[in-house]
Amino acid sequence: MIKAKKSLGQNFLIDRNIIDKITSIVEIKNKSILEVGPGTGNLTSSILKRNPKKILVVEKDDQLVKKLEESFSKKITIINKDILNLNENLLSQEELIVFGNLPYNVSTEILCKWILNLNDNKIWFKSLILMFQKEVADRIISNFNTSDYGRLSILANWKLNVKKVFDIKPNCFSPKPKIDSTLLFFTPKKNFLKLKNPLALEKITRIFFSHRRKMIKKPFKQLFSNNSNLINELNINLNLRPQNLSFETYYKLAHEYEKLIS
Ligand code: SAM
Repeated sequence: MIKAKKSLGQNFLIDRNIIDKITSIVEIKNKSILEVGPGTGNLTSSILKRNPKKILVVEKDDQLVKKLEESFSKKITIINKDILNLNENLLSQEELIVFGNLPYNVSTEILCKWILNLNDNKIWFKSLILMFQKEVADRIISNFNTSDYGRLSILANWKLNVKKVFDIKPNCFSPKPKIDSTLLFFTPKKNFLKLKNPLALEKITRIFFSHRRKMIKKPFKQLFSNNSNLINELNINLNLRPQNLSFETYYKLAHEYEKLIS
């Protein structure tokens, strides 16, 4: 009997209907799949039923890895590592479809790392089908002029199309989490503003959103010393709050900032 480890965000999906619904949202047959945190293998079994070409799974918990080896033997390739320490760009020659009922404690860290490390010339995945705490998913999909808008939505929407699939209730998991979950579907965007240094976007959003209720005068001045050409060019009203600036404005600001520091 496996005892779930809270420290590894272990809430296993037990509702068969939901599991099969998750794995049927894209065509899997003959495709290469990555599953992050397969746990006891509930999603993995459902993926296997749909005849993928291959499945790679990345699981940090040694005890669960033993169980997966017993259950799946050679049908899957198990990587017993922390997903945060892997270079995802090197996982496979083929584009991957990625599934993950992500451990909640590191779900945003995983997504942010993948976006910031993305190689624009060779994007390693075809789509991402990922589960988050509902409150986190709401932030990822939020639009500007809403209270959930912030660093996560700006980063995610930079290179990815993001769509909500459905919410999932706590009773679909064991142990039952206290909160609802949401499944999101991501695909790479064809066009986005290329940045040589993605950390510029990270820095811009961190500084602008450090005081989300205050006007953007101060962070703008801190980063761009009140550059009036830039204010005119991007048509920025410094009396607005950070949540009122569009996605595109943040990407352009990041572009200007990287020019400034290079
Ligand atoms: N996919 C299974 C399911 O839906 O029943 C388990 C999902 S559970 C929410 C998260 C899984 O991710 C656990 O198996 C946990 O051990 C694993 N995990 C946690 N942190 C990890 C990390 N940093 N790298 C890889 N796996 C991790």
